[in-house]
Amino acid sequence: MNNAFTLTSEIIALSESSTWEGAKREWIFTHAFQRPESACLCGKKSIINVCIITNFINDNETEVGNCCVKKFMDMDEGEAVFISLNKLKHDIESNITGVALDMFNETGKITAWEYEFYSDVMKKRKKLSPKQIKYKVAVNRKFMTYYRDKS
Ligand SMILES: [Zn+2]
Repeated sequence: MNNAFTLTSEIIALSESSTWEGAKREWIFTHAFQRPESACLCGKKSIINVCIITNFINDNETEVGNCCVKKFMDMDEGEAVFISLNKLKHDIESNITGVALDMFNETGKITAWEYEFYSDVMKKRKKLSPKQIKYKVAVNRKFMTYYRDKS
């Protein structure tokens, strides 16, 4: 069976619309995480980067791999989360991306103060003070608990 067909029929089954064009517009990106050995609706296995998408009409929720998420919505956010997670895994003092930060803020997971602070320090070229690094790392750790290894 064709993989793209499997994905679209699975999504349509979970949607109100019975056409792909209509169904794909019912879904929004809600979450991303990394989990080894995940599977995508298309049938692809051994996926690590997983996106949770939610149907805003009937509240259905499903997981898709990063292999397919771009097929039916603007997935800049999903990409940004994975890029950011990988950066933090290598260096907890690095920056998450601007898109990931906005998303983290818009979903209400950080305080207004944290958002302002992070937006400010991520632009700085100069070395941060130990205190600034401490706050930034705290936000990074928060980001990782929300977006990493949910099982
Ligand atoms: Zn897939």
